[in-house]
Amino acid sequence: MSAKGPKATCLLCDSKYTGPGMTRHLKSCLPNNMKHWAKQHEDKDQSSFHIQVRAVYSPGYWLHLNVNSSTPLRSLDQFLRDIWLECCGHMSAFRYGRNQVGMNRRLKEVLEPDMELLYDYDFGTTTELLIKVLGEYSGPMEKNRPVQILARNEAPEIPCDECGESSAVLICTECQWEGGGWLCQPCAEDHKCDEEVFLPVVNSPRTGECGYTGELEPW
Ligand SMILES: [Zn+2]
Ligand SMILES: [Zn+2]
Ligand SMILES: [Zn+2]
Ligand SMILES: [Zn+2]
Repeated sequence: MSAKGPKATCLLCDSKYTGPGMTRHLKSCLPNNMKHWAKQHEDKDQSSFHIQVRAVYSPGYWLHLNVNSSTPLRSLDQFLRDIWLECCGHMSAFRYGRNQVGMNRRLKEVLEPDMELLYDYDFGTTTELLIKVLGEYSGPMEKNRPVQILARNEAPEIPCDECGESSAVLICTECQWEGGGWLCQPCAEDHKCDEEVFLPVVNSPRTGECGYTGELEPW
């Protein structure tokens, strides 16, 4: 899967861009919007970080987030679990270089523009994410939430391994060991394995890993 992928939507202004175009676009769209939010909110004594999160080994999965800088890393961890990762309560950690960064540290104590942090979810079947700080802005967030989604990748079309024509909607975790197992609906119905071993194809770098079945409550 290429890092470009299908066009995604900027949730601030509804314009559409591919991955690299979105990064450029948000560097102006976010500060423009923040000027408006500052006029609408009393508490101006805030700041936030614009961060991009992407999967290290499948960069077609990415998120652009605006995160209140007083937020502890633990809240970002929870957000990433809810939207992309949580299957059975595995351990996770943020890392800067070779050092682990404590979950109670606040973003403003840890991050600065252009910095890159790594994040691992599950130390067995690990999903590894790269967090890049694209900007730091003063002013309030749009709503009273610690994390706001600015944009996310559109679900990539993954072809069925059996017919090669339709898009896969299920993954057979038995056949996955042999390098296949992505199935469209008709092929899944004819498939030889027990359907208990199927997992849904979801828009997450953890699709098909461990018991991952998709997003929890939307933020
Ligand atoms: Zn925009
Ligand atoms: Zn799991
Ligand atoms: Zn098929
Ligand atoms: Zn199978």
